[in-house]
Amino acid sequence: MDSIDYCPKCGLKTNHEILSEEISKGGGDYEPSWSHKYSIIKCKGCNNIQFKSSYGDEFMEKLNQVGELVYYRNDSYYPSFLENYREKLENYSIPKNIENIHLETLEAIKSNSLLLAAAGLRMIVEAISKENNIKRENLEKKIITLLNEGKITEKEAERLQVIRLLGNESVHKMTRSTKENILLALDIVEHLIINLYGLSSENLKP
Ligand SMILES: [Zn+2]
Repeated sequence: MDSIDYCPKCGLKTNHEILSEEISKGGGDYEPSWSHKYSIIKCKGCNNIQFKSSYGDEFMEKLNQVGELVYYRNDSYYPSFLENYREKLENYSIPKNIENIHLETLEAIKSNSLLLAAAGLRMIVEAISKENNIKRENLEKKIITLLNEGKITEKEAERLQVIRLLGNESVHKMTRSTKENILLALDIVEHLIINLYGLSSENLKP
């Protein structure tokens, strides 16, 4: 038996062999019917193995591309992954505290903990300021100092101010950002980390 699922190693949806599956079902005459499938699946391209949990009930309907109501299921996978995300920092040696916050932020995004993810992104900007020995009373001013000291460009400073606000909204107002927004902010922060710590001209010959 096969299923089509995303394979984080192949980086795309592939055919998976269902190695084992357990199904719980419920509901009946007076109750909504539901089913929860637990399966171990193996990618037919690279043999990567994942655990998949898939839940659906009769209220879970949505419109498809041609406007018809169709049932959908909530699927989650273990180990968790971010679809279409490419790890950018693994080949660089970056300061340990920045690396740690980055890893925790990634885990928060993978598990859809977007409030924590926004706070994590803001913490990375704080950590970058600390690494650069910038001591100002708040993060807004620290970003301005990073700019004034030529560590970041004007464009980067503008983007970091937006990430600072994103973190503030999350921490003080519990306002949840969208996943798209968080992924965009993650991309900005990762490029900044590479610019600051990852690239070196030592090995580059003219
Ligand atoms: Zn694969």
